[in-house]
Amino acid sequence: MATHTTTLTEAVATEVVTTQVFTGNEESMAAKTHPAFASPDADVQLCSKDNTTFCIHSHTLVAVSGWFRTMFTLPQDTAGVSANTIEVIHVQEDADVLAGLLAIVSGTGCPDLKNIDYLESLLCAAEKYEMPLPIAIARVALMSPVVNASPIRVYGIACRMNWIPEAKLASTRTLVLDLFAPGWVAELDRVDAPHLTKLIALHRQRKERFIAALDSPTFFANHRPAKCFNCGRELVHHEWQSLKYRWAKQMDKRPFGEHLSSEYMDVEELAAVLGARCPIKNVSWRNCRDVLSSLISRPRE
Ligand SMILES: [Zn+2]
Repeated sequence: MATHTTTLTEAVATEVVTTQVFTGNEESMAAKTHPAFASPDADVQLCSKDNTTFCIHSHTLVAVSGWFRTMFTLPQDTAGVSANTIEVIHVQEDADVLAGLLAIVSGTGCPDLKNIDYLESLLCAAEKYEMPLPIAIARVALMSPVVNASPIRVYGIACRMNWIPEAKLASTRTLVLDLFAPGWVAELDRVDAPHLTKLIALHRQRKERFIAALDSPTFFANHRPAKCFNCGRELVHHEWQSLKYRWAKQMDKRPFGEHLSSEYMDVEELAAVLGARCPIKNVSWRNCRDVLSSLISRPRE
């Protein structure tokens, strides 16, 4: 008796696939054939969950899919099956996803992957069927500037796939977002807990560094007591304190990414700091501009 070890792949195959064998021209009931996959000499029909049939050669599937390679090497019950048979395999993917997947592995085309729901569905199917090429294409498409997705969604997908460079880039792109705004709840729900924790920690770290920079002793008004460069008198730089408060609140509401946005720059508190002058000698405190410039140009982590 042949021994057989049940692998994870085989277990999944058993769970999601129903295989039927039809003879001659018999076809699955009420199924329509996808026009791009209608080869009459194919020996396998994949039937999508929305009942579209894709005719394809088993050797193509074996060549491009570890999952199908395993499946077709499993012992088959061929009793009573003639040589002139078409194997029908029912899968869980819908026709659009299956068409995209098969177009890529057949070398006949590449689907439009701008829609993130579609991209993720195709990626999940490619993972399940162990198809490296569609996974590689989805990886490139995920970071495309034209893909219609929030950086949170991209981050979650990249983390799940363990695509570290993509996850880092996406996490940086989330820095302009308020993670706790109600509109992002659904997106955050998609991110696995450990990766979500890291993302929240990144935002917190960014805020703490920004606050620390605002409190930097390189700015004379942070000294206790602070002394004016121009006249040497002690001063309380109210404008600076007001700006720090405004920016700290803004950081809570909406962090910044590569640049300080207009929500930071177009505030009256900043104008007041830049316009503040020594009341004795009536000259500006240049230190304000210098510190702000270094703060704004601070390298991003
Ligand atoms: Zn002064």
